[in-house]
Amino acid sequence: MTGSSSKIPYLPRRIAGLERLALNLWWRWNRSARLFLRYDIDPVLWTAVRHNPVAMLRQIEPGQLAELAKDPAFLAKYDAVMEEFDRALTSEDTWFRRSYPEMADRTIAYFCAEFGLHSSIPIYSGGLGVLAGDHCKAASDLGVPLVGVGLMYHQGYFDQKLNLEGWQEGSGEAFDPVDKPIEHVVGPDGKLALATLRTGGRDIHIGAWRLNVGRLHLILLDTRLEENHPEDRELTYRLYGGGREHRLKQEWVLGVGGVRVLRTLGIDPTAWHANEGHAAFMMVERLRELVDGGESFEDAMAEVRARSVFTTHTPVPAGHDMFAPELVDAVCGSYFDSTGIDRATFSQLGHHPTIDHGRFHMTAAGIRLSTHVNGVSAKHGAVTRDLWTPMWPGRDASAVPIRSVTNGVHVGSWMAHSYMELLDRHFGPDWGRHDEDGFWEQVLDLDDAAVWEIHIDLKKQLLDFCREQARSRWKELWKEAAHLVGAGTLLGPKPLTIGFARRFATYKRAHLLFLDEERLQRLLTDPHRPVQILFAGKAHPADDQAKAVLQRVWSATRDVRFEGRIAFVEDYELHLAHRLVQGVDLWLNVPRVPMEASGTSGMKAGLNCVPQLSSLDGWWAEGFDGTNGWALPLAEGADDEVDRHDHESLFRILEREVVPLYYDRDDRNVPTGYVKRMKNALRVAASRYTTRRMVQEYARDFYVPALAGAREMDDPPTDATIAPPSGDVIPITPSVSSGD
Ligand SMILES: *Cc1c(COP(=O)(O)O)cnc(C)c1O
Repeated sequence: MTGSSSKIPYLPRRIAGLERLALNLWWRWNRSARLFLRYDIDPVLWTAVRHNPVAMLRQIEPGQLAELAKDPAFLAKYDAVMEEFDRALTSEDTWFRRSYPEMADRTIAYFCAEFGLHSSIPIYSGGLGVLAGDHCKAASDLGVPLVGVGLMYHQGYFDQKLNLEGWQEGSGEAFDPVDKPIEHVVGPDGKLALATLRTGGRDIHIGAWRLNVGRLHLILLDTRLEENHPEDRELTYRLYGGGREHRLKQEWVLGVGGVRVLRTLGIDPTAWHANEGHAAFMMVERLRELVDGGESFEDAMAEVRARSVFTTHTPVPAGHDMFAPELVDAVCGSYFDSTGIDRATFSQLGHHPTIDHGRFHMTAAGIRLSTHVNGVSAKHGAVTRDLWTPMWPGRDASAVPIRSVTNGVHVGSWMAHSYMELLDRHFGPDWGRHDEDGFWEQVLDLDDAAVWEIHIDLKKQLLDFCREQARSRWKELWKEAAHLVGAGTLLGPKPLTIGFARRFATYKRAHLLFLDEERLQRLLTDPHRPVQILFAGKAHPADDQAKAVLQRVWSATRDVRFEGRIAFVEDYELHLAHRLVQGVDLWLNVPRVPMEASGTSGMKAGLNCVPQLSSLDGWWAEGFDGTNGWALPLAEGADDEVDRHDHESLFRILEREVVPLYYDRDDRNVPTGYVKRMKNALRVAASRYTTRRMVQEYARDFYVPALAGAREMDDPPTDATIAPPSGDVIPITPSVSSGD
């Protein structure tokens, strides 16, 4: 793959490696590299460019760089970081190679519609994207040979702004790739267009950007090319923007286009992972390649299935992507007409087992075309088996071949530096690579006062950050200083601080806190043991119900009864998420069971010694052990009955357990009982809920069998027969851009 350019024109030769370093997100989770970029070049500029080293190096005075290139102390640090960087990228001594030497030179393609890697590259909307980003980082650490495939959204998701009535308004401007760590990929012929798709009577040309994530590359597909019709260029403007047809076209570009672009680039994956249904067309395209190449349909199906891994993240039937037949005809029609996959076969692949509505169901297709299927927590695995039992008629749900791999988070990205340093002092520098049982028990020996001191420091940093955000927003565009109440200017460091940050989807139940406002007021304004709540989160741009809940929260921030103890911080994205999970005292999560497939923010909090209070859903159903936080006892009944019950449990736990424990201090002013929960939160999160453990499980249970092409595990759905396609088979060359 070619495509290197010089983004940073004035770099002296002696420190030319800074460009390579800045163009690889590895710096974000390597501590030496991060501290070096942050403090040793231009700390003021670093903050101004929002922690983006490419922008920093482009904007810095050339003279300043020339000075640094002559400074022996700087050069010593530079050399040390570059050496570590090269070692990390090229070492042969990786977990994957040690465990599976015969597989280490193969490639696994990892497709996802969003990736959350750094706030400078806003191509994610929430949990799914952050998980995919953390997956890639851990794969790099472990030496798992992935290549990521996603879409380049020029306008990202949206930046959240609340208007003067607290109503969410999205704004989105195209970000400028030039000061971002991404580069155009050029094909073997020197052109930007790497592959072609025919849809809606036009050819869509697909280009790509490369993003380096440690040892891995991410290929971000792009239709914003001159060759394309203006409408088609917009396909890769906005994440989850536009209507159904737009969405289908995006998924068509991701799946079919993604396979073709990899072919052009000479990347030849042996196993393929679709993370969520959006990417399922990737499997259809591989099926087409085999059928058009002359394989029998049965063999092609068996081959695609054996090599495919499919992860579903959605526990509710309505949450899955599906497309009406007219749309499928409009977008995918020329595919049926010109390839070995005809219309009937195609629609059978996406047929839903119980609702025969003729729509193409992306999750059904993912399951039909993969041997290795999983949900994202033990509980979600069970829910998913139930949901899809009809695909295996006559079977018990427990015998449905869908497993689970519980999500995790990337320690190097989410744990605060100061805790890492504490662990260094306690365990030595290798604590991040310990996989043996029992290792993390030892964190219970950490000194309570040392843990508490770090925590209080992080809490102050969070509150400073909120005030600073408020100040700059006020300066930018707010007319009335009164609005700053809502942005957290009144928060102080003493009260017990609860964090509630997540998408404002109705099932996440932010409204639960407000069911009894007098009780909430008593909780927050107790003169001796006050409590404050920090909210953050976006509502889906099309979800007015969720926007109304958000507005309710907003009005509470300005309600004098709560005395400024409720705040809302705008624009929940990666950087704010880091601050929040590191700086609050309690992480609150109250989804309606069983709507949360896994949840990951509570894991991030746990890695920072922040205990969680949550419904027993998703990962908490397996992760809560009585020592590491609190759980709402399961309730049954109609939605509003469950809400009332959970509201009562929530306030009972806060009033009788959390608040007293938090304010029970020893003579050093350390709440030792609370700190014990904090240390247990770390123990549980660090021992099980990391992407290190998660990617090891994917590798062992799914990737390695898929790389081997093992067919013994195959246990395909039996609810429908997929007739081999009729009609003439048109052979294709194995490369791209012909064929449809
Ligand atoms: C971790 C994260 C999420 C997902 O958190 P949940 O617990 O699944 O709600 C969403 N958005 C951002 C920015 C995150 O960092």
